[in-house]
Amino acid sequence: MSTLAAIPTPQEQLKFLKQIQQILQSGTFTSTYKFALLMSLVRLAIEQGEDTGSDLTLDYLDIAEKFIDLYWKQSLPFQFNEYDPFVLQQSTGQQAAIINHIRLAQSQFKTLAAVRRDSVFWLKLKKSVATTVKQMPVVYLQNINGQTFEFLYCLADSKQNLVLLPKVMYCLRQFSEIIEELCQKRWIDYIRGNRKNLLVLDGLPDLNEFMFAPSRNQLGQVANVLIDLQQCQCFYCGKSLKNKKYAVDHFIPWSLYPADTGHNFVLADDVCNSQKSNYLASEDFLEQWMIRNQLHNQTIQNEISQLGFLTDIERSHRVAGWAYEQAKENGYLMWRGI
Ligand SMILES: [Zn+2]
Repeated sequence: MSTLAAIPTPQEQLKFLKQIQQILQSGTFTSTYKFALLMSLVRLAIEQGEDTGSDLTLDYLDIAEKFIDLYWKQSLPFQFNEYDPFVLQQSTGQQAAIINHIRLAQSQFKTLAAVRRDSVFWLKLKKSVATTVKQMPVVYLQNINGQTFEFLYCLADSKQNLVLLPKVMYCLRQFSEIIEELCQKRWIDYIRGNRKNLLVLDGLPDLNEFMFAPSRNQLGQVANVLIDLQQCQCFYCGKSLKNKKYAVDHFIPWSLYPADTGHNFVLADDVCNSQKSNYLASEDFLEQWMIRNQLHNQTIQNEISQLGFLTDIERSHRVAGWAYEQAKENGYLMWRGI
């Protein structure tokens, strides 16, 4: 990757955003794959890219992993009222193939972590998802009413790997929150608009929560790991957590980067947790967090990955690097502690 490539001008950046808006507004959507593809590209640009105008080569297996992350929770049957368990229909025709691949995995493994641990099955799953991604959304994402509109990648050059065109990585990193939010909204609209889901929608009061919110089930167990690791002290103010209410906090806020990773969790008392809210913590805390991760990398890797979370210290720190750079450039307010 050449680091000399010029970053896009403000005009080019605006044009990029308009183009994203255009494919989301005018494209035809026979399934939800296109939303998942855009969100995957954003997340991979953050995890694997940098703030330069270079191109970025992405492995289809990595894109497949993001698809599995996005669809895992949405593929779980939803039980409501007197009806049989229902799986959200992600396609206008038959159920989307990727959902069927994931359902098959769910019939054999209890959690995503368990699938990941079976390296043979995991690779097989990623390969089947990658094949669908390559044949469907990668081909159709940049097509509006039969017209091709190649501003993200050039299809002809993306047979082996998907190659983001120069300046695209930069724009995806710059506009990630906007693109994620647009995609989520359009994805939810699609699910609501798909008549095959009519039956279930009354029983799902908060579709957004069901489809995209962090899964709360296992955070209690994460807290049990962290309470020892932090010697029963609040990560931010250091006060004892004994006999106090506390919560697992996403160090890099979920609103900035909506994916759970093991190293991103810290334990905070209720006061710090509610004050920090969706803010980034100031840079002193960033250093403290990185030291914590280095010191306890092994424990986090062993114990939190058991609970079903991806744990990759480098990936987490790259995401943090991106978040703090965004904060600096755009003057985000930070939380300085109490
Ligand atoms: Zn505190």
